[in-house]
Amino acid sequence: MSFSYQLQATDGAARAGTLSTAHGDVPTPTFMAVGTAGTVKAMTADAVRATGAKIVLGNTYHLMLRPTAERVARLGGLHKLMDWPGPILTDSGGFQVMSLAKLRKMDEAGVTFRSHIDGSKHHLSPERSTEIQYLLDATITMVLDECTPHPATHEEAAKSMQLTTRWARRSRAAFTPRQGYGQFGIVQGSTYADLRRDSAAALTDLDFEGYAIGGLAVGEGQAMMFAMLEITGPLLPAQKPRYLMGVGTPDDLLGSIARGVDMFDCVMPTRAGRTARAFTSAGIFNLRNARFIDDDTPLDPHCGCLACSRHSRAYLHHLFRCEEMLGPILLTQHNLTYYQSLMQGARAAILEQNYLQYCANVRAGWNSVIPREGGGSTTS
Ligand SMILES: [Zn+2]
Repeated sequence: MSFSYQLQATDGAARAGTLSTAHGDVPTPTFMAVGTAGTVKAMTADAVRATGAKIVLGNTYHLMLRPTAERVARLGGLHKLMDWPGPILTDSGGFQVMSLAKLRKMDEAGVTFRSHIDGSKHHLSPERSTEIQYLLDATITMVLDECTPHPATHEEAAKSMQLTTRWARRSRAAFTPRQGYGQFGIVQGSTYADLRRDSAAALTDLDFEGYAIGGLAVGEGQAMMFAMLEITGPLLPAQKPRYLMGVGTPDDLLGSIARGVDMFDCVMPTRAGRTARAFTSAGIFNLRNARFIDDDTPLDPHCGCLACSRHSRAYLHHLFRCEEMLGPILLTQHNLTYYQSLMQGARAAILEQNYLQYCANVRAGWNSVIPREGGGSTTS
């Protein structure tokens, strides 16, 4: 099985396709649940599968520190370790080094940092990041890049993007091709159209199996993010998958699919689930809110997950009030199910050439009830 992307339908710029990998097929658009340290927090692998997820993400930074990439390899790889035989995408570790590690020092060679866990010293280069992801047995390996901080001047963004391009070249050279495995380059360039164009051109020359769009959802706002997607999308090969990193709210996902994105990952549904916030077809609910104390109705009557089909809002409220573990477990399962059903609905609509109407219907649902606490907008 070779690594490939089959484009099946387009509706405007929106795309429906199938990603074929050594570990199985993924219908797109798709949302990847974040399995930070070899686990999607609060979820068994069976529970993740039950949400409809076809591909999960692992974090190189966390796994290289604990249990270490070499140990994961000795234990049979990440698929076996976490009981996820399906496709796994791993990030390069770079983003989390910059956000979590201590005493970071970045130069042309890579990033030197101290672990946030025990202070031990580590070095991450494009070659080492690629090797770690090989040891983890990642279906999709990401190149080491610098996520350009926001805001950045044109000069800063250009310098950062050029470093990412040089690192992408080194990452590509370090990648071991295997049947059904792929490596994605990452387009940077901050909020500057000319830099996004230069980045996309340099990366497509390296002929990656897919392309990520990085450095967005870092504070530039949704309108600017969409503008950058409109510029970047057409520069990428139509027959390769496109992955928008670290995005986002359900509304961000719908708007990004409309602009040609195929793959997403974000901690939002899992993190929100652990903090009593639910994404539903009627908007965002906070289950800690006292108004749910006697509410015997399902969280989302349109959802078939365990939380919605077997329990009431009152029970979920009770679990969070008592700080029972089952609250975060059920709500994480619900939020991931909601995200997956959003992707499945989007895909079906694109195949039927009805995507804009689908988005309008979903958005009307979010606004259909009296605005809830934090309703309709983003969270965490
Ligand atoms: Zn549900």
